Amino acid sequence: MVVGRIDGHEKAVGVATPAEALAQMLDWLRTDANAAFVWYLREDWPEPVTLIGRPASGVVGETRRSAHLFHVRPGVALHGSITARCGTELSLTDIEWLRLGAGMPCECCLVTGARHELGRMGR
Ligand SMILES: [Zn+2]
Repeated sequence: MVVGRIDGHEKAVGVATPAEALAQMLDWLRTDANAAFVWYLREDWPEPVTLIGRPASGVVGETRRSAHLFHVRPGVALHGSITARCGTELSLTDIEWLRLGAGMPCECCLVTGARHELGRMGR
């Protein structure tokens, strides 16, 4: 979901992917430079979602464009930036979202993610 205030009007749009959310927000910014908005996973979503993204081309050097894992919890609003499992913080406008298996994975994110999964199984 993307929720915003554009030209003084409240708007809410359902989107399927973070890339669509970003496209919607940029669209609103073109309409109203003072538009304010957040995006989030619907609070009635059954479980947290892991998104895969890497710094967009030109944001960092090619060698540092590894794919990070981002854990998104339902109902938690996102705006400005998002922090990966390894602690890398990226601005939402600087992320290229990837499909599972695409890009070179960030090893740190994988290790942290694996520990997270093991911890859940042990409970
Ligand atoms: Zn990472």
